[in-house]
Amino acid sequence: MQDTIFSKIIRREIPADIVFEDDQVLAFRDISPQAPVHVLFVPKEPYRSLNEVPASEAELVGSLMLAASQYARLEGFAEDGYRLVMNVNRDGGQTVFHMHLHLLAGRAMHGGFG
Ligand code: 5GP
Repeated sequence: MQDTIFSKIIRREIPADIVFEDDQVLAFRDISPQAPVHVLFVPKEPYRSLNEVPASEAELVGSLMLAASQYARLEGFAEDGYRLVMNVNRDGGQTVFHMHLHLLAGRAMHGGFG
């Protein structure tokens, strides 16, 4: 697994605006936000994409989603709503090859997917 910018953020080698952390997950604001709230939920284990995650790590995948929903509740926009997106590989539009979940909120999302 090649090192990525996200591993460097997890190791605190480069700065990021971190908003949530637990044993398995780090969340920080996207450097190029596409909505008023745009946070990336990143597993500390550097899986390249969802494709590399074994079935034995189902709990980790669930933890990412639940961390995002917990954040939405704490920040007060859970009821208004939000969008969760995970890009996988080239056709999915993935650009950083350390699996992550985007949380977008603070405006109404449009219906399209690209
Ligand atoms: P992807 O396209 O792989 O799904 O998403 C990668 C995201 O990482 C992009 O939205 C991009 O703006 C964000 N990103 C890339 N480099 C950095 C960085 O150095 N710091 C932060 N906070 N976000 C980054």
